[in-house]
Amino acid sequence: MGSSRAGYEIPPGAGINTGRKHEPLPLSELLNSRFWEYKMHFGESYLQAATMLQPVGGMDAIAKAFEQRVGRLIRYKAEVTEIKQNSDGVQVIYRDRKSNQYQSVDGKFAICTIPLSVLTNIKADFSKEHQAAITVGASSYNRAVKVGFQSKRRFWEEDYNIYGGISWTEADIIQMWYPSTGFHNPQGIIVGAYIWSNDISKRWEAMTFNQRLSLAISQGEKIHPGYNQEVSVANGCTVAWGKVPYSQGAWISWEQDSRKKAYQVLNEPEGNVYFAGDYMSYLSGWQEGAILSAHKIVNDITTRVQNS
Ligand SMILES: Cc1cc2nc3c(=O)[nH]c(=O)nc-3n(C[C@H](O)[C@H](O)[C@H](O)COP(=O)(O)OP(=O)(O)OC[C@H]3O[C@@H](n4cnc5c(N)ncnc54)[C@H](O)[C@@H]3O)c2cc1C
Repeated sequence: MGSSRAGYEIPPGAGINTGRKHEPLPLSELLNSRFWEYKMHFGESYLQAATMLQPVGGMDAIAKAFEQRVGRLIRYKAEVTEIKQNSDGVQVIYRDRKSNQYQSVDGKFAICTIPLSVLTNIKADFSKEHQAAITVGASSYNRAVKVGFQSKRRFWEEDYNIYGGISWTEADIIQMWYPSTGFHNPQGIIVGAYIWSNDISKRWEAMTFNQRLSLAISQGEKIHPGYNQEVSVANGCTVAWGKVPYSQGAWISWEQDSRKKAYQVLNEPEGNVYFAGDYMSYLSGWQEGAILSAHKIVNDITTRVQNS
């Protein structure tokens, strides 16, 4: 008989209108879809469960708020090229990308927040053990790819009564995300692909932007017939984090074994260099992990200085 969980073909209403439920899908089809593996209860998992909050104005509002408070301390366009230690502490050498000149800063301690995927290619006089741990971490990154479109109209609301949430697919695009704000505005942004399987990501990284956008449209068409009339390559954008030079990956996914070994090595300072970032937490892939890690390292250094 099925349940109302899948919704109604005819919604229940007043009087004698009991509504008509969608025909249940055959059990074999449900099992074959592997939907049950995690997609069905994705929103129940510890890291994805309600209540989820979004920064007003977009995710970079958080970085901008930090900038407002500590911007005077930031050196922009400074690409770290080498980390060296000496008897006084740490020297960080960087290339000023405006002047193309190399400069350095010296300090007693350094907190390195460069992702391991990038750090692995930066010259440093780290111990073999630390360098090996960085190499392991660098090879553990998820290479997420996203596609987004500005849609002519909010067809998901007007035609499907979808207000936020995710459609999971078996296609490369994996997911389509619907905005959970701006309901009934004339237009909206739809996430047309959110790929976090490295095999698929690598194939998509090799495509041109337009190829990615076209493929996302044709795959989304299967979920929403007529989609290709609502979104277009001209109004799309895409990011492959594996190809972003200063990220070279989206977030780290430590294997159980490397959590026990490489992660533990990096949890200890290399001389006066400390490692911080979401990758040094059990909340990797989340800003909260980065912030908790920063707090931990500042405390570690404070304790070390107080005890010295
Ligand atoms: C697709 C995607 C979706 C996400 N969604 C969410 C979400 O919904 N919620 C959430 O909380 N988190 C999310 N995250 C995770 C969040 O972005 C990270 O947890 C957070 O940015 C980690 O902060 P961090 O300071 O450790 O590292 P980063 O933010 O990566 O900062 C590292 C910095 O080092 C700089 N850098 C790199 N190389 C050099 C160099 N050679 N010299 C100088 N600087 C260098 C980089 O430019 C960068 O600014 C998402 C991440 C991705 C990729």
